[in-house]
Amino acid sequence: MRRSPPTLGNVTPTGTAGTDHARPVIDLHTHSSVSDGTETPAALLAAAATAGVDVLAITDHDTIAGWDEATAAAREHGVALVRGIEISCAWRYTSIHLLGYLPDPGYRPLLEELARARDSRATRLERMVERMAADGIPLTYEEVLAQVSAGATPGRPHIADALIANGTIEHRDEAFREWLGDDSPYYVGHYAPDAVRAVELVRAAGGVPVLAHPFTRTRSGALDDALIVRMREAGLVGLEAYHRDHGPEEVAHATELAARLGLVLTGSSDYHGTGKRNRLGENTTAPEVLDAIEAASSGATEVCARWARGGGEGRSRYCMR
Ligand code: AMP
Ligand code: ZN
Ligand code: FE
Ligand code: FE
Repeated sequence: MRRSPPTLGNVTPTGTAGTDHARPVIDLHTHSSVSDGTETPAALLAAAATAGVDVLAITDHDTIAGWDEATAAAREHGVALVRGIEISCAWRYTSIHLLGYLPDPGYRPLLEELARARDSRATRLERMVERMAADGIPLTYEEVLAQVSAGATPGRPHIADALIANGTIEHRDEAFREWLGDDSPYYVGHYAPDAVRAVELVRAAGGVPVLAHPFTRTRSGALDDALIVRMREAGLVGLEAYHRDHGPEEVAHATELAARLGLVLTGSSDYHGTGKRNRLGENTTAPEVLDAIEAASSGATEVCARWARGGGEGRSRYCMR
């Protein structure tokens, strides 16, 4: 099936424009309703096909619960799938995010760490809602729970969704601006592994750690290079440089660090369905970088769609058109 060319808002230096059919469109960071995205894993894969994405990574927060549904849908829609996670990690008083690609889903120490984080997230949301309700914000914990799909990782966006459902606001953005930011009096933290330990766990699971949006401008307190050096020593493979939350300065910083430390640079949308303005394929990763990520994995989890590779001369092995 020939899909329509993608419309890309923000084509990156290593990315690919929509009309070059020899270069696959690779988007390595997206969320489904298994965490705080608004589309089921199957709907996410359908949306990726419609957007012209050839290779998609599903990277839900602290869970791999969407992998099976995503795998079946990837096959159905002719999209190659990189199974991954986005782990929230503790660093000083803030949270940083680590993408883990292709980890072995049977590696218990990683699963146990993710389960511990998810349990702690649930009690933390309840405490945030108590604080907000005590201050007169119209909200109950039941309303928040109604926004979390069965088995999904609960997060602040579900509080925002409850406020949308009861008519208080119109978009998640408003809730984050007013009440849900890291520096809000209502903010309550949750258990999260140390960032260096998370890198070690992903590597021990045979997966490939890439630091998500390292220089996000919305974070309170900039992340220092020394932490990235320590993560590199623990086995970090890449930095997500091309991301909506980075401007030219942040991309330059990531590029300089990557050259110095021997890291790859990725690009991705961080799509959350209607929960964020980020669009599928708005930033992309070079095929050579995806090859390096695959090569760095143990092979316990493969990119789904080896079945579709080698399809014709001059075409990328990920391209099914
Ligand atoms: P939590 O997992 O509870 O720490 O919540 C963090 C999540 O909130 C991240 O995955 C972000 O994608 C999401 N988020 C942060 N700021 C916003 C915003 N302004 N609008 C929508 N989602 C946001
Ligand atoms: Zn999210
Ligand atoms: Fe993130
Ligand atoms: Fe994300």
